[in-house]
Amino acid sequence: MVSLHDVTKIYGPVEALRGVHLSVEPGELVAIVGPSGSGKSTMLNMIGTLDRPTGGTVRIAGHDVAALSDRELSALRAQLIGFVFQSFHLAPGVPVLDNVADGLLYSGVRLRARRARAAEALERVGLEHRLRHRPHQLSGGERQRVAIARAVVGEPALLLADEPTGNLDSRSGAGVMALLRELNEGGTTVVVITHDRDIASSLPRRVEMLDGRILSEVTA
Ligand code: ADP
Repeated sequence: MVSLHDVTKIYGPVEALRGVHLSVEPGELVAIVGPSGSGKSTMLNMIGTLDRPTGGTVRIAGHDVAALSDRELSALRAQLIGFVFQSFHLAPGVPVLDNVADGLLYSGVRLRARRARAAEALERVGLEHRLRHRPHQLSGGERQRVAIARAVVGEPALLLADEPTGNLDSRSGAGVMALLRELNEGGTTVVVITHDRDIASSLPRRVEMLDGRILSEVTA
């Protein structure tokens, strides 16, 4: 699903990634863990094809990112990858149903079908009773579940979550992690970025980062 070969990323004087090798197989559930500044977000940007490496090779589902134009890359991303962020990134004032339906905006699916699929995705995350609510009327945990529904409404093969529990209390955080695990059991490959060791240690595979390098790997 994901293959990074000797990937480097340099921002001016900063070497954010210094020769990273990583391979993630379809169906895996992986934590990328490390302290602030260790290069986790840069890794996510590489895996999510949001940015290109300075050196090395990034392959997603067999596609070499360097060989694709920006347009082809956006198409690959839209088809293959769902994103979940710490701060939810929901459109304020927009009903939950449409927030999720907008996850299919560039898929060519018509509005009525987008809404029907959004309703199904919201049912999967346990929010079928909140379709008409606006984000500000929901708890943090509920907002993150809406964001997850939006990320998976197009049934991406790969789900990338950047500190998905960072803004949540521990109970809502546990709910969100349970949901990610459930999606993984349904076949989605999931990569979670976290600085939280407890969350990382609850996942079957952990990749530990420090100073732009992979320090160690643990597989349960
Ligand atoms: P983490 O997500 O683990 O906190 P990051 O990947 O955000 O780490 O950052 C790794 C290093 O790269 C840090 O030293 C950070 O300051 C630097 N960095 C990240 N993004 C940029 C950028 N766009 N421009 C300059 N430096 C950056």
